[in-house]
Amino acid sequence: MSKKTKAKSKPSSKARKYVYFFGAGKADGNRTMKDLLGGKGAGLAEMTNAGLPVPPGFTISTEVCNIYYKEKAKIPAAIDREIEEHVKKLEKAAGATLGSTENPLLVSVRSGAKFSMPGMMDTILNLGLNDDAVEGLKRRTQNGRFAFDSYRRFIQMFGNVVLEIPKDAFEHEFEAVKKARGAKLDTDLDEQALREVVDRYKKTAKAKSGRDFPQDPHQQLKMARDAVFRSWMNARAIEYRRIYDIPDHIGTAVNVQMMVFGNTGDRSGTGVGFTRNPATGAKEFYGEFLINAQGEDVVAGIRTPQPIRELEQVMPKAYKQLREITTRLERHYKDVQDFEFTIQDEKLFMLQTRSGKRTGYAAVVIATDFVAEKLVTPKEAILLVDPESLNQLLAPGFDPGEWKKIPTATTGLPASPGAASGQVVFTADEAVAWTQQGKQVVLVRRETVPDDIHGMFVAQGILTATGGMTSHAAVVGRQMGKPSIVGAARLEIDEAGRKARVGDQVVKEGDYISFDGLSGEVKIAQVASKPSEILQVVSGTLSAKKSDIYRRFDTLLTWADKFRRLGIRANADLPDQAKLAYAFGARGIGLCRTEHMFFGEGRIPIVQRMILADNEADRRKALDELLPLQRDDFYGVFKEMHGEAVTIRTIDPPLHEFLPKREDLMVDVARLETAGKLGKALDEKKALLHRVEQLHEFNPMLGHRGVRLGITYPEITEMQSRAILEAACRLQKEGRKVIPEIMIPLVGLVKELRDQKTIVDRVAADVFKEQGVKVKYLVGTMIEIPRGCITADEIATEAQFFSFGTNDLTQLTYGFSRDDAGKFLKVYQDKKMLDRDPFASIDTVGVGAMVAMGVERGRKTRPDLKLGICGEHGGDTASIHFFHKVGLTYVSASPYRIPVARLAAAHAALSVKVGD
Ligand code: ADP
Ligand code: MG
Ligand code: MG
Repeated sequence: MSKKTKAKSKPSSKARKYVYFFGAGKADGNRTMKDLLGGKGAGLAEMTNAGLPVPPGFTISTEVCNIYYKEKAKIPAAIDREIEEHVKKLEKAAGATLGSTENPLLVSVRSGAKFSMPGMMDTILNLGLNDDAVEGLKRRTQNGRFAFDSYRRFIQMFGNVVLEIPKDAFEHEFEAVKKARGAKLDTDLDEQALREVVDRYKKTAKAKSGRDFPQDPHQQLKMARDAVFRSWMNARAIEYRRIYDIPDHIGTAVNVQMMVFGNTGDRSGTGVGFTRNPATGAKEFYGEFLINAQGEDVVAGIRTPQPIRELEQVMPKAYKQLREITTRLERHYKDVQDFEFTIQDEKLFMLQTRSGKRTGYAAVVIATDFVAEKLVTPKEAILLVDPESLNQLLAPGFDPGEWKKIPTATTGLPASPGAASGQVVFTADEAVAWTQQGKQVVLVRRETVPDDIHGMFVAQGILTATGGMTSHAAVVGRQMGKPSIVGAARLEIDEAGRKARVGDQVVKEGDYISFDGLSGEVKIAQVASKPSEILQVVSGTLSAKKSDIYRRFDTLLTWADKFRRLGIRANADLPDQAKLAYAFGARGIGLCRTEHMFFGEGRIPIVQRMILADNEADRRKALDELLPLQRDDFYGVFKEMHGEAVTIRTIDPPLHEFLPKREDLMVDVARLETAGKLGKALDEKKALLHRVEQLHEFNPMLGHRGVRLGITYPEITEMQSRAILEAACRLQKEGRKVIPEIMIPLVGLVKELRDQKTIVDRVAADVFKEQGVKVKYLVGTMIEIPRGCITADEIATEAQFFSFGTNDLTQLTYGFSRDDAGKFLKVYQDKKMLDRDPFASIDTVGVGAMVAMGVERGRKTRPDLKLGICGEHGGDTASIHFFHKVGLTYVSASPYRIPVARLAAAHAALSVKVGD
C-alpha cells in the first residue's frame, strides 16, 4: 500500500484521502482547504508551506468526523491504517518514536472546525507519555521536573477529555500536593513533588474510570481522536453553533502534531497574541505570554501572564522573529492574525494562526487603517467587517457627567469596550433565568469557562476577577461585542455565598453594577447611559469632525455604497424616523405604515369614531377630521426624505386593534350597572361593546384587513390618497422634489388592486385639478399572500411596483401565526426541523421561492417593475444576500438597521451574483 509508483500515466483508482501531512516546509493542504482541514489545520498547512517554524504533524479531515458519527462511533479500518501510516511519517520527520524509552515522540491532539470555536472543544497535550516513556524523556532532556510536569498535564487532560473525569478531581490532588509542600505556584513544584502528583492522578483516573490509565500510546491516540470527535457534539459546542448559526454537519478535523515544550525551564514559554488590538483596533502588538508554561496556561488564568512586549527584554531574538513572522502573516492573509506560539529553549515555534476575532469598533478601525496603510483596497476592506457587528457601534455609552459622580470601586483589564450596567449575577444559569424575567444582568465570575456561554450571551456585560486579555471571557466577550472587563483582581468572589467583596464594599446578587469596557473602571451603582458617538453625530448633537469613529464608519459605508447594487430604503412611519433613516444613509422609504399615525396624540377617538360609524356619512365625517392630520404627517415624511421615493401603505391592520378590548368593556358595563349608574355613559359603553362584538373576528390575521378594508370602505382609501397627494402637491409647489408611491396591502387578486387603483387615480385627478399642479406618482402593491406571488404576472398589469411583505408571506406560506409561533419554533429548532427562525431570516427554500416566483412573473409582464422588500428580513444579513440574488431593486429596513443593510448589500454584491 505504501509502495509508491512513479508512473504518471493514468490516475490510479486510489482511495479517497482522509489524512493530510505537514512538515519540513511542505504540506498536503493549504489555506483554501478549511472545509476539509478545519481552520487550524488549514493554517498549519499554510504556515508550513510558507517556511515558518511549525512542528510537523498531520490533519485527520472533517469527513472522518462525519464518518465517525455515521458509523456509530467507529472508524473504518482503512482510515485507521491511513492514520498509522501518517504516524510513521511523523515519527520519521520528528526523529522520535511514539512510546520509545530512548527518544519518545510526544504529540498534541487538537480539534479544529472550519469556524473557530474558542474553547468549545478539547485539546490534549503530551500524548505518548507512559510510565516508561516519561523516564526516557527525563533521561534525554536531563530534566526530570519537565518530564513529570508534562506527564501530569497529560494525565489530567486525557483523564478529563477522554475518560470524562471532572477537572476538579485532579485539581484537588494537585492543590493537596502544593499545600503539603508549601508551594504557591505550579512552577514551585520540583520533580519529586510532580512524581507524587502523577501517582495521585493515576489513582484518581483508575478510581473514576474503573481501569488503569492506558499505557499504549497508539491506543491513547485512537482514544483521544475519538474524544475530539465526540466533543463536536458536547452541549457547549452545540450551543455555540446555535448562537453563531454554524451548521452541525460540517464536523471537526483532528490535528496531531509533534509537541514542542514551553515548560522546559526559564528559557521557554508559551503565548498568544494579535497583530492589532482586537478591542480598539489600535495598531499595536498585542498579547501575553508565560515563561515556563505550556498550552492553555495563558488563557486559563492559572498564573497572571506578562504582556507580550516584555518578551522583548526576556528573549529578544525570539521576540524579533515573532514580530517578523506575525507581520508577514498579517500581510499574507490581509487580515489581523490571532496567533499562538511556543518557545522551547529560545527557539520559536508557531502553533496556530487565524483571523482574529474583534469587536465591531475594532473592525471598523482596522479596515480603515488597512486601506490607509495600503494593505488592502476599499473593496477588500468592506469584506473585513461583519455587517452585524456595526450594531455594536450604535450601543449607548455612559453619560460622562453621571459616570464621573460615582467613585470607581476597582479597575480591571479593558477586554471589550462598551458600557454595561445591570444587576449582578454570579452564574450563567442565573443570568439566563433573570433575563427571562426581563431583568438586565451583569455576569460576574472569578473566570468564565466555555460552559458559561449561554449566560454570557444574555448578559449586558461580563466581569471577571482573574484572567488576562486573551482569557476565555475576553475572547468570547469581544466576539459577542459585549462589554467585558477581566482580571479585576481586587474583586473577591464568593460564588456559593452569592456575593463579592471589593475592598470593604460588599456586592450581593441583584445589586447594580456598571462598568466601562474601554477604560476598565467598575462602579457599584446604576449609571444613566448616553447615545453612542455615532448616533450623536447622526442626530446632529455632535460634529462629525469631533468623532474619529464616526468618520471611519462613514468612510467604510461610503465605500460599501459604491459596490452595492441593492437600493437601501427605510421602514419609517413618522418624520423623525425618516430623518434618522436618511442620516443613516437610507435613500427612500420602503414602508410608511399610515395606521401608526392613528395612534398619535388625540387621534384615537377620531379613528374610533370612523370605525364605529355604522353608515357612510358618519364615517366620512370622521375621515374629514383625519385628513389634515395625515396630510401633515405625509408632508413631514416627504420633506425628511429630500426627494427620494416614499412608499406609503394604505390602512392594513384589522380595525379592532384601534378599539378597546371586549373583555374590558364588559367589565366597565357591569361595573356601571351594579353601581346603578344608568344614563348616557352606560349607553355609550353599551353601544361601543355592541360594535366591538360586531367587529370581533375569529382569526383577524386572515380577516377583514388590508385591501379588504379599502374595498368595503372605499372612503378610507379616498381619504388616504387625498392626504398623500395633497401633501405631495404642497411640496411640489414649494419647489421640492417628491416621489409618492401608494401601496395597497394584501392583494391576491388583480381585481382588488384594480378597484383601489381606480379610486387613487380618480382622487389624483381631482386633487391635481384643485391644486393646479401635477405630481408624478406610482400605485403598486405589497406582495405578501401566496396567491399574489402565483398571479404576479396578472397583478403586474396594474401594479407599477411590488414590495414583498415577507412577514405576512412567511406566515401564510408556512401557515404559522407569527404571534403564536414562539411556542413551537424553539422545539422545531431543537429538533433540527428548522435551522433558523423563518421570521428573522428568510426561508430561502420555501418563502424565498415564493418571492422568486413573484419577481419572475411580475417582470415578465412589466420588465421595469420596481421590486422591493419591506418585511423584517430587509435588515437581516443572510436575507439581504438572498434578495440581492433574486434581483430585487431595494431592501427596506428599520432606521437603526440601515448601516448593517448598506454593508450587507455590498457584501452580497461582492460575493454572490444576481441569478446565481
Ligand atoms: P484551541 O483550539 O482551544 O485554541 P489548540 O488546539 O490551539 O486549542 O491548543 C491549545 C494550546 O495548546 C495551543 O495554544 C498551544 O499553546 C498548545 N499546543 C497545541 N499543540 C501543541 C504542540 N504541538 N506543541 C506545543 N504546544 C501545543
Ligand atoms: Mg482548547
Ligand atoms: Mg488554539
